[in-house]
Amino acid sequence: MLNLVSDNLLRVKERIKTACLKHGRNAGDVKLVAVSKTKPIEMLYMAMEKGQSEFGENYVQDALAKINVLPQATWHFIGNIQSNKTQLIANNFNWVHSLASVKVARRLNKQRGTKEPLNVLLQVNVSKDPAKTGIRADTANQILEEIQGLENLKLRGLMTITENTEDQSKQHQHFARLSQILEELNSQYSLPDFNQLSMGMTRDLEAAIAEGSTIVRIGTDIFGARETRAR
Ligand SMILES: *Cc1c(COP(=O)(O)O)cnc(C)c1O
Repeated sequence: MLNLVSDNLLRVKERIKTACLKHGRNAGDVKLVAVSKTKPIEMLYMAMEKGQSEFGENYVQDALAKINVLPQATWHFIGNIQSNKTQLIANNFNWVHSLASVKVARRLNKQRGTKEPLNVLLQVNVSKDPAKTGIRADTANQILEEIQGLENLKLRGLMTITENTEDQSKQHQHFARLSQILEELNSQYSLPDFNQLSMGMTRDLEAAIAEGSTIVRIGTDIFGARETRAR
């Protein structure tokens, strides 16, 4: 099972490379975040040995155990943020992809303390899927205005999760929309490093790269299927 991780990692990198080639993009411009939620630390060691250094986690407590033994990796928080977990997130992660409220932004900013600024992405619910979190696209301006002055946060761009669909035209449509929103926001605000699009998972990596993704978040295709989590 562990050997599979390195094979899988190679295959995912091939997927990224092939999609980039097809769309005239440079594979080096798409960062791979290996989503290791629910997976044992041995699998992360295996991935690290193969050069993977960026990991994504959704559950704070599980993640802390891994961060403690792999502090040299870069850690991305990609799950829903509960207010009572912001302190742990602010102190232990390098990136947050799932910022979806001004209140949480203020808490993260305050709790980040003296560390280098936390990289944050605003999660946008482009598919308007009621089951997904994320801000509505038409509120992005207002939220950006309220959080752009927070000095311990570095606003890096946008993130989305598309609805669970195999319909490729829908995937493309949602990702293209996120890309367009990023462009619109950049034309209105001068935020120096607001240039990242975190989009694309195992099911829709190719569509995401076609539409300009700069960070893909891949779990299943690297670490295998997850058991559904009882919570
Ligand atoms: C679990 C998760 C992923 C990875 O999904 P896979 O389908 O396993 O690749 C990506 N992004 C978020 C926000 C997730 O929660």
